[in-house]
Amino acid sequence: ARIFGVNRSTVVMALQELESFGIIKGEVGKGTQVISNTWSLLMSASTPDWSQYLRSGLFKENIPTIRMINKMEFEEGILRLGTGELSPRLYPDQMMEKVFSRLPHAISSLNYVEPLGLLELREVICEKLKQKGIHCKPTNVLITSGSLQALQLISVSMLHQGSSIFTEAPSYIKSLQVFQSAGMRLLGVPMDREGIQYWKIASERTGREEALLYTIPTFHNPTGYVMSPRRRKELFNFCTDTRLPIIEDDAYGDLWIDEAPPLPLKSMDKNGMILYVGTISKSLFPGLRVGWMVGSESVVDRLGDVKMQMDYGASSVSQWILKEILSSDVYDRYMNTTRSALKKRRDTMLTALETYFRELADWETPKGGFYIWLTLRNHISVDKLFRQALQEKILLNPGSIYDFKRSNTLRLSYAYVDEDKMMVSVGRLAAIVATCSIE
Ligand code: PMP
Repeated sequence: ARIFGVNRSTVVMALQELESFGIIKGEVGKGTQVISNTWSLLMSASTPDWSQYLRSGLFKENIPTIRMINKMEFEEGILRLGTGELSPRLYPDQMMEKVFSRLPHAISSLNYVEPLGLLELREVICEKLKQKGIHCKPTNVLITSGSLQALQLISVSMLHQGSSIFTEAPSYIKSLQVFQSAGMRLLGVPMDREGIQYWKIASERTGREEALLYTIPTFHNPTGYVMSPRRRKELFNFCTDTRLPIIEDDAYGDLWIDEAPPLPLKSMDKNGMILYVGTISKSLFPGLRVGWMVGSESVVDRLGDVKMQMDYGASSVSQWILKEILSSDVYDRYMNTTRSALKKRRDTMLTALETYFRELADWETPKGGFYIWLTLRNHISVDKLFRQALQEKILLNPGSIYDFKRSNTLRLSYAYVDEDKMMVSVGRLAAIVATCSIE
């Protein structure tokens, strides 16, 4: 201190600080010793221990298969046999060119929009929903950033940790994850070709706790099944009688191929017991990130308030674009073309399955949506199949990600992979299946 002309108390404070970092240690009679690699300790003292942070937080880590799917979808040359999106080849380029050219006149403001979302879009959604027997006002509609956000808003705004969510087993993995990360108790209810076996819920419900039922009645993900009109009525009555509110996810409702599906459950709802969730991600494209929820005004208002706290509203550009698409007949015309294209794709995939999988698996013909749910006849490890197929550049969605008990099921999608590659990729897959049987 004398040499550098520094005050003694400054030196003492510096030594105390180094000791608090564990870099030096002072002992009576022994003086002060450096006890560790000073540089690395100085670095670690200034770098947060991220691993500890990463173990915290609300959301759980995706399971490795999902992480792999999320990553591999963007690799070159991958045959995406499981992807739940329309192929970009089906995108309506001309329609979009016209929509984009009108935007400068159509957009009247790019400011933040009101808590429930762009009024003009909510109005046009109400108009469209009339075709499905749903009658609502713009104050019943909340625009969300994709429909998954609606599920998240419901979970974090209306339920306690540990509340029960009844779902079909199997069900859409990403919805399940939203509920699970918010601390909900997931209760899978068996389903059959007619839909969820609601009568099995009673034994799981204690009666006091908050609970909701999450269902995808139309072109269910992952099975593709459509809940029958009879089951819809019975489910609605059961939920009304037992005061179990419903979240109805209608992501695929517009994507019928052979005939229009039964009306949504929401069309029966006179007392606001159903929260109906829709999205443009499946019938058009997911990149807009626009979804909507229709429910009673009190619920919509509360979720709109939470959404403002979360992200201050969905992209207003996307909302104007969607309003423009939905407010003329272009969307309906586009959907007709898309349905014909999906029919061709579905039929090609069914032919490929008939050719290569007749002895290996069972499946139903989907009447819409994107998916064919394969149940393999031999006992097989679909996780092993997933890895083997990936080595041959085929990306699958094994059934185990939708319900861990389903170790011999696969979700195939005819929506994404190029039609001219379906035959060869399904053939290759059948050859891999033969190598994955468990003796
Ligand atoms: N619900 C279901 C049943 C889905 O299959 C999907 C997409 N795979 C979504 C919701 C997610 O839609 P969004 O992109 O609107 O969040």
